[in-house]
Amino acid sequence: MQKILPQLRAIAGICGKQGVAPGRCHLSQYCLRVAVEGGELLYHNMTGELLLLSAEEAAGMFGRAGVRDELVARWFLVPEGFDEYRHARQTRDVALLIAPQESQTAHFVVFPTTDCNARCFYCYELGRPRRNMSDAVAHDVAAFIVRRTAGRDVRINWFGGEPLYNARAIDVITGDLAVDGVSLTSQMTTNGYLFDEELVRHARDGWALDDVQITLDGTESVYNRSKAFVGVEGSAYRRVLRNIGLLSDAGVDVSLRLNLNGSNERDLWQLADELAERFGGRENVTAYTVLLRDFGFGSMPHESRHRALAAYGALQGHLHDVGIGRPWLPRRSVKVNQCMADNDNWITILPDGRLGKCEHESEDKLVGRIYDDGLDEEAVRAWKRVVRVPECEGCLFFPSCNRLRECAWHAEGCTEYDREEMRINLRHRVLTAYEQYCREHR
Ligand code: SF4
Ligand code: SF4
Repeated sequence: MQKILPQLRAIAGICGKQGVAPGRCHLSQYCLRVAVEGGELLYHNMTGELLLLSAEEAAGMFGRAGVRDELVARWFLVPEGFDEYRHARQTRDVALLIAPQESQTAHFVVFPTTDCNARCFYCYELGRPRRNMSDAVAHDVAAFIVRRTAGRDVRINWFGGEPLYNARAIDVITGDLAVDGVSLTSQMTTNGYLFDEELVRHARDGWALDDVQITLDGTESVYNRSKAFVGVEGSAYRRVLRNIGLLSDAGVDVSLRLNLNGSNERDLWQLADELAERFGGRENVTAYTVLLRDFGFGSMPHESRHRALAAYGALQGHLHDVGIGRPWLPRRSVKVNQCMADNDNWITILPDGRLGKCEHESEDKLVGRIYDDGLDEEAVRAWKRVVRVPECEGCLFFPSCNRLRECAWHAEGCTEYDREEMRINLRHRVLTAYEQYCREHR
C-alpha cells in the first residue's frame, strides 16, 4: 500500500484513526475506486487521502488482516451499520468552524462593460442591457475596493461582456489603486481578440494581469461562425491564437475553455490536437472542457445526456493525453465554499456600481451598491443556501458539496447526471495526482 496523497490536516485532526472493528466491514461511501495498471487507487472524499493498492491487496482488502486494519484506521472501510452520513455531517460542521474565514486576499469581479465584440449564441448576457462603466464610476469603484479591502491584497477578475471593450475603465481603476498603494494582481475572462503586443505588455505591467481565460468554441471555421465577431477583418480564430502565444510569451497564464455542446465533440478533438501542436510544451497554456448546460440539456432525452457525459469524459482525457490538459488535482483543503457566490471574500461590481455575488448574474439577485454603507444581508444569506436532496445521504460528494440553490446552473437541484459529471471530474483529478506522483518518484 502506497500513500499518494496524505489526509487533509484539518480532517485528520478531527477524525483521528478509526478504531479497528471486529465484525464485517464495507467500503466507505466516500471512497472512489479507480483501476490503474497493476492495482487500484482509493480516494477518500472526506479525508482527502489517496492510496495505491497492489492488485493483490485490492483483491483481499476485506480479508487480509494487515491491509484491512490499515484501511479501517484510515476510514476507507467502515463497520456494517456505521452511520457515515452523520459522521460526515459532524466532521464537516467542526471543519467549517475551525476553517479560517478571513482570507489575506480580497477578491473582486469587475465588469468594465457588459458590451462585447462577439455574438456567441449561448451567452448568458444575451438580451441584457449593454452598459459601459464611466470614468466617474471607475474612480468610485477603486475607492470602494480600497475601503472594503482594509489593507489586504487585492485580486481582480476583469469580466463582462468583453472587458477589453472598455480598457479605459481598467486603466482608471488600476491607476487609482496604484496611487493608494494597493497590492494588486488580476486575471481576465476574455475572448482574447482585442489583445496585441502592446496591450499584452500594458496589461501585464499596468493591470498586474497574470492569468487569462479564453473560450474556444471550435476549429477555425466553427469558431469564426459561432463567435460572430462584429467589425472583424480576416480570421478572428487566427488572431486569437496569435494572442494566446503573445500572452504566454509575456508570462501570462492562459487557460483555454472548450465548450462542449453535445454536437461538436469531433471538432473539439481536432481543436485539442491543433492546440497541442501549437502550444504543447508551454507550461502556462492549458485547456479544459465544460458541458454547456445553457444548451437545454434539461429537456434532452436521457440518452443524449449520457452521450454528452461520455463525450465530456473522453475529451477531458484526450486533452490530457495530448499534453495540454489542465492539471487539476483533488482539493487539498476543507471545502468551505462552492464558489464566489457563497464566499464573503468575493464580490462582483457591475458597470453602474451595483454589487452582486455571482459573475453570471448581472441583473438579478444583486446585493447592494458601491455607494451604500453595507450589503443587503438577506440577499447575501440567500446565496449561501445549499441544495439538499434525499440522495445526499449516500452521496460520495457530500463531504465537499456546497451546491447552491440560487445558482442558475443548479436549477434542477441535483440529478444523477450532475453527480456523474462530478464523478468524471474527480476521477480525472485522482488520476492526475497519481501521474504526478509517478513522475516525482520515477
Ligand atoms: S447536492 Fe447532489 S452532489 Fe451534493 S451531496 Fe447532495 S446528492 Fe451529492
Ligand atoms: S454560476 Fe453558480 S457556480 Fe458559477 S459563480 Fe454563479 S453561483 Fe457560483
